[in-house]
Amino acid sequence: MKMPRLGILGDGQLGRMTALAAAELGVRVRGYSPSAEGPLQQVAAGHTAAPWDDLAALDAFADQVDVVTCEFENVPVAALQHLEGRLPVRPGAGVFRIAQDRLLEKQLAHRVGADTAPFAPVDGPADLPAALAQVGLPAILKTRRFGYDGKGQARIDHPDDAAAAWARLGGVPCLLEGFVPFDAEASVIVARRPGGEAACFPIVQNVHKNHILARTIAPGPFPAALADRARALALRLADELDLQGLLAVELFVGPGDHLRVNELAPRPHNSGHWTQLGCATSQFHQLVRAALDLPLGPVDLLHPTEMVNLIGDGVAAAVDLLAEPGAQLHLYGKDEARPGRKMGHVNRRCTR
Ligand code: AMP
Repeated sequence: MKMPRLGILGDGQLGRMTALAAAELGVRVRGYSPSAEGPLQQVAAGHTAAPWDDLAALDAFADQVDVVTCEFENVPVAALQHLEGRLPVRPGAGVFRIAQDRLLEKQLAHRVGADTAPFAPVDGPADLPAALAQVGLPAILKTRRFGYDGKGQARIDHPDDAAAAWARLGGVPCLLEGFVPFDAEASVIVARRPGGEAACFPIVQNVHKNHILARTIAPGPFPAALADRARALALRLADELDLQGLLAVELFVGPGDHLRVNELAPRPHNSGHWTQLGCATSQFHQLVRAALDLPLGPVDLLHPTEMVNLIGDGVAAAVDLLAEPGAQLHLYGKDEARPGRKMGHVNRRCTR
C-alpha cells in the first residue's frame, strides 16, 4: 500500500514527534520552515528551508507532498491559503486564522456555548477605560496575536497602569481579559477527520511554572461529569471549525467545576505528550491519521500517566532518567539548553 506523503509546516519538536509517528505508519515526511536546522529536520525525509512568503518554494513543496499539516501555530495564513490552492491543508487556513487571534478564539468559544474570561478588544489607548469598566480589575492585557508561554501579556491591577501596559506590549491590537479565579488548568485534545469522525483524548490537568507547562497529569483528577462536559465542548469546537486534524483546548477549571476556554491550538500540544505512553494512540499518530483521512485510533487510557517537561538545564536529568525503570524519555535533539527552552520530556506511569 502506498501511503500519502505528509508535509509539515514548522521545524520544532512537535513536528519531529509527528514525523516519527508518521514513519511508523510508512508515511514520508517533508518539512518546510524558514530555518535550515531544527528538531524536525533531524528525522524528516526532506526539508525545504525558505521564507513563508516564497511562493515558488511553497509550490515546489506542494509538488513533493500529498497533504500538509502544521506543527507551528503562527504559520502565516497567506502561506496556508496558497497551499490550499494546491492540495489539502489540514487543519486549514480558516482554523489558523481563528487560533492566531485571541479575540476570534473567544468569539468562537461563545458561538458554541462555552464560557471564557470576560474580555474586550483594545485597539488603542482610547479603548482602555471602557474595556476596564467592562471586564473589571485585576485584568490581563494580552496581544491578540503571537503570544505564547505568558509572553505578550501584562497584568493590570490599577486603572492608572493600563496605558503603560498597552505601550509595553508594543502598541499592537490587544485583548483585555478579566483575571478569573480557577482551581486548576486543564486541556482536552480532539482529533477529527475530514468526514467528521472525531475522537477526544481524556482530559488532563496541567501545572505551569513561570508560565511554561511543567507537568501534565493524565487523566486530570476531575469528576466524570466535568470530563464529559469538557470532551463535548471540544467536539463542538471541532465541528464548528470543520476541523481536519488536531485541536487542543486549554481550559480553566473551577470554582465549582465551571469550565472556561482559555486558548486553542490546532496542532499537537505539549499537554498531549503523555499519550505516547498512557494512551492507546498517541496524539502524533492521531494527527497523522486525521490529516491523511485514515481511521482514527482508539483514545482509551491505558494507565494513569504523568508527563514532566525537561526545560533548560533540567535536561541534565536525562542520564538519570535513562536509568530509571519505566521512565520513557524523549529528547528533541536541541544542542543548547537555554533557560525556558523545552529540551525534552519524560512520561511515567502514575502511582496514585
Ligand atoms: P495564556 O498565554 O493565555 O495561556 O496565559 C498564560 C497563563 O496565564 C495561563 O496558563 C494562566 O495560568 C494565566 N492566565 C491567563 N489568562 C488568565 C486569566 N484571564 N485569568 C487568570 N489567569 C490567566
